[in-house]
Amino acid sequence: PAYCQDGTAEAEVQTPEAELEFSWAILWEFIKPQLLALLGAIVLAFGAAVLNIQIPLMLGDLVNVVARYMRENPGNYLREMREPALKLLAYYGLQGLLTSGYIICLSRVGERVAADMRKQLFLSLLRQDVAFFDANKTGQLVNRLTADVQEFKSSFKLVISQGLRSITQTVGCFVSLYLISPKLTGLTVVVMPCLVGAGALIGSFLRRLSRNAQEQVAKATGVADEAIGNVRTVKAFAMEDREMQMYAVEVDKSCAMNESLGSGIAVFQGLSNIVLNCIVLGTIFAGGSLMASEELSPAASSTFILLSIREGISAGARVFEYLKLEPTIPLKGGGRIPYHSLIGRVDFMNVTFSYPTRPKQQVLRNFSLALPPGKTVAIVGESGGGKSTVAALLERFYDPNTGVILLDGQNIRTLDPSWIRGAVIGFINQEPVLFGTSVMENIRFGKPEATDSEVIAAATLANAHAFITAFPEGYNTVVGERGVTLSGGQKQRIAIARALIKNPSILVLDEATSALDAESERVVQDALDRAASGRTVLIIAHRLSTIQRADLICVLSDGRITEAGTHFDLLSRGGLYADLIRRQRAQGQK
Ligand code: ADP
Repeated sequence: PAYCQDGTAEAEVQTPEAELEFSWAILWEFIKPQLLALLGAIVLAFGAAVLNIQIPLMLGDLVNVVARYMRENPGNYLREMREPALKLLAYYGLQGLLTSGYIICLSRVGERVAADMRKQLFLSLLRQDVAFFDANKTGQLVNRLTADVQEFKSSFKLVISQGLRSITQTVGCFVSLYLISPKLTGLTVVVMPCLVGAGALIGSFLRRLSRNAQEQVAKATGVADEAIGNVRTVKAFAMEDREMQMYAVEVDKSCAMNESLGSGIAVFQGLSNIVLNCIVLGTIFAGGSLMASEELSPAASSTFILLSIREGISAGARVFEYLKLEPTIPLKGGGRIPYHSLIGRVDFMNVTFSYPTRPKQQVLRNFSLALPPGKTVAIVGESGGGKSTVAALLERFYDPNTGVILLDGQNIRTLDPSWIRGAVIGFINQEPVLFGTSVMENIRFGKPEATDSEVIAAATLANAHAFITAFPEGYNTVVGERGVTLSGGQKQRIAIARALIKNPSILVLDEATSALDAESERVVQDALDRAASGRTVLIIAHRLSTIQRADLICVLSDGRITEAGTHFDLLSRGGLYADLIRRQRAQGQK
């Protein structure tokens, strides 16, 4: 289809990333199954935190004992030491155990919640309308499955572990501070929230900086990605230097942004250290001990926790966004026509359609077309005229804006889409996509429950059996990037086998635009002719050479059928079809 050639469509439909909603209800659904482990983590983490307050106090006691003995009787201080030392050791041991215990529980919760989120999100993504994928870039969608879930997971773990520690130690800190100096405590109670608030403010500023910097890095990567992905074109136009310049501009921008982010973080850290140390000094001055420093730092780190909560919430919101999104065309549900009474007649009646991503451009206008059962109908016309769109509507990838499409007289909107796609229509695409698995599995994709012999029968019908068995590993040969590279004609024939294994009543051929060599074209054509017999066939013809034997040739122009007839009818009529034929001959495309 022609739409990939101009990038204008994307700009119109970008949803601003801004205010996505975070739903606690959805989060709760994910957490519920892990509740036991989560409670375990919380109890253990709390225990570890309480011990963490105790340990410095005991250490202080121990030091006092040592100091006293050093002064008074330098004799048998080992015996006196033994009890507090052993107790301290035991506390250390226990603290260590609790710590590893809560980390185990927490990482279990985190991993399982993340895995569930990924699975759910993947499922919701796959369920979406084709239009959804027109409007969203694949990379961004995949990012939600990876980076956003990852970010949510780490914030979640961090908030729980640090949060518990922070709360217990802050409380502990205030209690001991109160014992030391009630006045100073009062002061701290007033000052602390202000500090945390100020910290959060600076923090959120830094966060925005960091997000912008990240986006800039992504932009630079996009430039590189495009250039490397299209390296042949870049080379063919000797554009290496220009691409390098474009990349350098983006990289320099991101470098500058990251530098200022680094400076911001540095100043923030420096300032908060100064403030923290002043508080510690104040405490000591008021008669406290150095312990206070140990206990104050978590209080100060609550800024950090507030930030993590926000980060987790915004990552979660991005993950949840598509979980709530319902496709307008359901995957399943609706009527089915029993196989033996299915005739395979299709009628497009007054269909008007524009793509949701380009509402202003009407691709089809009052388009009507009948596909008689068992006959082959070809659609021809200018490239970009809407031929492939007709096939997409029949598959119900989109619904028409007005008008209806009937299958055996029933509106396809009332029929089960999974049945139409899975059992009624066999779709053979212009550029067949094979998955990175065995030939056997690729063909079975058309009918998951097919036996091996059904696969072989379909391959034979598609003229593919001979070349498949010629591979050393036969049907177990892995294709795609990690396996053997197939020629265009071989891919086509596997795709034909994949469509035929469903035994579809209707066959849609969106013909390859790229010419196969004469020999493969002959075998592919042969396979298609055999596949067509006894079926209703719709050929989306991008080249005219292969459709001359079609029962009916329809010329699509201005969004509707303007001419229809056999090859010779249309030739003798001397209209658009005759014109197209003449032009293709002139281009030497035969
Ligand atoms: P043909 O198959 O005749 O070459 P298409 O049906 O592929 O034409 O395209 C018809 C028009 O619809 C073109 O202008 C094309 O740019 C546009 N178009 C095709 N697919 C999409 C899509 N997924 N989203 C938006 N516009 C599209």
